[in-house]
Amino acid sequence: MSFGPRRSTVTTLVGDVAVGSDHPVVVQSMTNTDTADIPGTVAQVAALAAAGSQLVRVTVNNDAAAAAVPLIVRNLADLGIDVPIVGDFHYNGHLLLAKYPDTARTLAKYRINPGNVGGKRHDEHFRTIVQIAIDNAKPVRIGVNWGSLDQDLLTSMMDENATRPNPRDAHDVYVEAMLESALRSATLAEETGLGHDRIIISAKVSGVDDLVHVYRLLAARCDYPLHLGLTEAGLGMKGIVSSTAALSILLSEGIGDTIRVSLTPKPGGDRTEEVLVAQQILQSLGLRSFAPQVTSCPGCGRTTSTFFQHMAQDIQTYLREQMPTWREQYPGVVEMKVAVMGCIVNGPGESKHANIGISLPGTFEDPKAPVYVDGKLAVTLKGDNIVPEFLELLDAYVERTYGADITSESVAAVGT
Ligand code: SF4
Repeated sequence: MSFGPRRSTVTTLVGDVAVGSDHPVVVQSMTNTDTADIPGTVAQVAALAAAGSQLVRVTVNNDAAAAAVPLIVRNLADLGIDVPIVGDFHYNGHLLLAKYPDTARTLAKYRINPGNVGGKRHDEHFRTIVQIAIDNAKPVRIGVNWGSLDQDLLTSMMDENATRPNPRDAHDVYVEAMLESALRSATLAEETGLGHDRIIISAKVSGVDDLVHVYRLLAARCDYPLHLGLTEAGLGMKGIVSSTAALSILLSEGIGDTIRVSLTPKPGGDRTEEVLVAQQILQSLGLRSFAPQVTSCPGCGRTTSTFFQHMAQDIQTYLREQMPTWREQYPGVVEMKVAVMGCIVNGPGESKHANIGISLPGTFEDPKAPVYVDGKLAVTLKGDNIVPEFLELLDAYVERTYGADITSESVAAVGT
């Protein structure tokens, strides 16, 4: 599949992370700890960063949270973690950022929700935040949300619509109000003095078709980098599938410069899941590579034992466990494709398309497993040690192919 160029033509720096234009789509996440719980927040930011989150947002909702931010960033630095921390502000951002200048200096970006800036003094409070961003040379994200849309703006647009000879559908007016809120706020920020390249926009909704519609309109009307995400995507499979469906459509059209997958974790669940899902969306679309990919067939009546499922799982787990080391040691290994196939029907063919692949014997087939390396039959494994023997071949392949001292000639010669 070939995708169009990225729609945004502006690059916004968030800390040292470039968002927009031709830069790779940035993966980000948000903590769900109490920000005032410094050890808990540091631990979760560290886990999210280790999983590959390039930006981490924390809520800054009160004095304790605002006071904690510089300490969190300092503790992270002591651990050697320099992931940019973004502050999420609602209602009192103008007060907290003014009262805690160290926090304003420490955060890499401020997220402002124009719907939650303040009623009658909306513009004044908004300008206060923007001025602090200007003074600290920080970018802002103007993050409109379906669930907290600027009610004054919406009401005035609904009223204006009602006076038309042919009023538009209320849903259309709602969408238009979201866009208007985002773009009007961006104009206000620039009029206050914020650079055009210091603004990122988002306009999140919770429905897939609505999100696609809103972002297509947004991308057509501005060139700011866009933060993409399905808000309140939900729990487990529903959240993952809905987010993937929405983000895939937009990313394939070149829309979206940074993404967050807003999953509701299970109680006690792992927050890093949202990072892994975001990475997998980008890797499945061929936009970025984060880890070697395992191609495995679903199995069928030809794979009546669970050996094949265990093997696919073991190899996936092995690859994930190796990645912290391999990423440093073997540049390019993230592009590797490994096939684990259940029988002769598609096994050899799919294995040949992978860098290294194994075709296990299906039920009633000879108990042997041909291994293909770079499209050629390399060896046939038999017996009870197929998994460890395949992992040895995998290790050897990685070292030969992605090792630092490998020349292009020797890579070409690698095969069997
Ligand atoms: S490769 Fe073989 S085992 Fe796997 S799904 Fe196809 S027919 Fe079934």
